[in-house]
Amino acid sequence: MENTEKTLPIPCPDKRWNCAAYADGLCIALGDANFGGRACLFYKSKEQSDAEWVASIHRLIGLGKYEAAAQLIQKGWLNE
Ligand code: SF4
Repeated sequence: MENTEKTLPIPCPDKRWNCAAYADGLCIALGDANFGGRACLFYKSKEQSDAEWVASIHRLIGLGKYEAAAQLIQKGWLNE
């Protein structure tokens, strides 16, 4: 039986250094970045990622999901 398990992190094939998931040539978000020769479909700049993080926190607070918002805030701080 073939071992298809991927090891993390994987090399970023596009070398998109300004992607939020890029770290020293590696992708810390995906287990597979083979898009059939196309550019990565999950590329997101740090600015985009931060803006979406803040919007998500606001959305959770608006829904009254304070515990989830607090967890998301903590997770963001831990990733800094
Ligand atoms: S999400 Fe895509 S562009 Fe970003 S580091 Fe990973 S493979 Fe590279």
